[in-house]
Parts: sequence; C-alpha cells; structure tokens
Amino acid sequence: ERKQLHRLRREPSRTLDQHDIKLFANAESREDVSEAHALGAAGVGLYRTEFLFLQRDTPPDEDEQFRAYRDVVLGMTGRMVTIRTLDIGADKVDRAGIAPSGEANPALGVRGLRLSLAKPGLFETQLRAILRASGYGPLRILLPMVTSCEEIRLARTYLERVAAELRAEGFEIADHVALGAMIEVPAAAIALSGFIGAVDFISVGTNDLTQYVLAADRGNDALADLYTPLHPAMVKLLHGVIRTAKSRGKPVAVCGEMAGDALFTPLLLALGLEEFSLHPGTLLEVRRAVRASELSSLRASAPSLLRARDRAAIERWLAKATTH
Ligand code: PEP
Ligand code: MG
Repeated sequence: ERKQLHRLRREPSRTLDQHDIKLFANAESREDVSEAHALGAAGVGLYRTEFLFLQRDTPPDEDEQFRAYRDVVLGMTGRMVTIRTLDIGADKVDRAGIAPSGEANPALGVRGLRLSLAKPGLFETQLRAILRASGYGPLRILLPMVTSCEEIRLARTYLERVAAELRAEGFEIADHVALGAMIEVPAAAIALSGFIGAVDFISVGTNDLTQYVLAADRGNDALADLYTPLHPAMVKLLHGVIRTAKSRGKPVAVCGEMAGDALFTPLLLALGLEEFSLHPGTLLEVRRAVRASELSSLRASAPSLLRARDRAAIERWLAKATTH
C-alpha cells in the first residue's frame, strides 16, 4: 500500500477523464519544500511565513527573511511559490510580542493582514524581502484574513511603493508579482464578486472559514463534531466562491486542511475546484483520489450535493461518489 502510493510520485495528478488538477504544497520549513519538490507538487500554494517569527524573541530582519523566501523559490526550481504575509495572532502567538495580547476575542481581533496594516514598518520589511526573492523565480503574494476590498487596495499601495523603492535602489525584482487574498472570513466569501477584481488569485482557507461560518473555535475539542466543512452552509459557500472566481478568470485554490483529506477530494472536484494546496504528507493520497475520479460525473452530481440538507446527506453523497 505504501509502496503503491510511493509510485505515484512521478505520475500526473490527472483524473480518469484526463483533466489535470494542480496539487500545490503547504510549506513552513525547508523539509516541506524539498518534499514538495520530490513529490512533484505543482508549486508551493501556501508558505506560512509566521513560522519564521514564532520561536524567537525578536522578529527576523529583511535580509534573514529574504534568504528564507529566496531559498523556497530556488528549492522549487521554477515552479510557482506563494508566500503568505504574516498571519500572526489568534491561534499563532509569537514570543517577540508582535501579536497583540489581552484581546478578549483574539480570533476576531487584530490578526493576519489587520496586524500587518497596523504595523506598516513590519509589513514593508516583509514585502521588501518577498519582492527581493521574486528576482530568483516565480513568486506570488497571498494576504491572510482579508475582510474588505479597502484592505486589499491598501496592501497593493504598499506593495507598489516598496517595489518602486527597490527598483530605485538597484534590486532586480520581477516586473509583476501577483497579489492574492485568502478567503477565510465569511464576509469576503459572501461579497467576493465585489472585490475579486482587486486581486489576481484567491486561496480559500477552510480552517478559518469553517470556524467563522459555524461559529466553532477550530481548536476547541469539545466542538470537534460541529467543526466540519461537511455542513450545507460550507458546501454552498465553497461552491459560490469557486464559481465566482472561475467566472472572472481568477485562479482559485483551497489551502485549508480540507484540501489534504482524500475523503473530501470528490466533493471539491464536484464543486469545480482545480487547484488544491496541501501538506506534502498527504499529497500522494490526494493524487490517488484525483486519479480515481471521473470529473465529468462528479460535476454532473454537484446539484444533488448542493441540495443536501444536513451532514448525513453530504456524507451519503460522498460515499456514493467514492464507490463509483
Ligand atoms: C486556513 O485558515 O484554512 C489556512 C490555510 O490558514 P491557517 O491554517 O494558517 O490559519
Ligand atoms: Mg487561516
């Protein structure tokens, strides 16, 4: 069984009816990056930069960040690398004290992009480091916890200013670096059609989206039964997000844990997803699930999935889709 899985390293992530699905990797370390490369990941779909900040007393400076991002880009040898700007706060608290302390509701507090916009110096340093790494291979930038269009516009202003500064200083950076938004706040998912024009791509963070849609703390074991993307509200929302992005010609991926669970692969394919980003440890299992799927019949059964009234009905749909 393990051996058979191992053989899939060199096989394409292609459905039975010959549709190529892109499997990107989530990475937070050097090891993740080399494993992703060895398994034939399409690229890095989510590089969580907060891991550079967590276990230390002072934040990494521009040069240290630059070296880390450049190494990811070089490690992927020309495949796309998606660097997510700092997503500290809530469940990810740093020792250096960048994340605010004492918030009554940290999950609803100053976290992710909100924190970056509140600390422009920190944000500019990170953007400089990322843009400098863009001179070494394909790279794009992903913003976490986006809630409104204004935040994206503001982030883009910073990005453009920093790019102009770097060019004036003589750095060779990419002509264009795509800017994307994590869709993990319900408001962003619901109002996506209004602001998708402001971004180049999106990536759905189902870990936080599930938490906020179901009002269930992602880390609270007592709510583990409730905390699941197999809720009709989540299925409807995901369907709408994927459809909106595709209708506007914007790439859309799912990068939450859901994308790395092969049980959910038929569901995401049925909803129209063509890009997944997942932990390298689960990449081959998802590749196997993709290779066992017939995209046309899954898509044809999307209406019955969308009619599911409860979790049990979604699970029945999944059981049927998996045995076909
Ligand atoms: C998510 O929320 O689904 C996600 C991918 O980001 P993180 O787990 O880092 O919050
Ligand atoms: Mg998240």
